[in-house]
Amino acid sequence: MARGQQKEQARQKAQKEAAKRAGAGSQLGARAAGLTIKCPKCFIAIANYNLLKQHMEAKHPKETVPPESDFQK
Ligand SMILES: [Zn+2]
Repeated sequence: MARGQQKEQARQKAQKEAAKRAGAGSQLGARAAGLTIKCPKCFIAIANYNLLKQHMEAKHPKETVPPESDFQK
């Protein structure tokens, strides 16, 4: 019994590690492929929509942030 449980735990741990690696990999990929969005006001390249929102709130507080769908072209 105990041995099977250990095996299961090891399997889950390995799965978690793999997910962590995959997550890090996709983040790196996003960063490499990134800068796909440009600020509509100052045309600076921004990695993703969340950052664009933050950028616009900080730099162009009077502008409305365009909907995310505007950038999914
Ligand atoms: Zn801007």
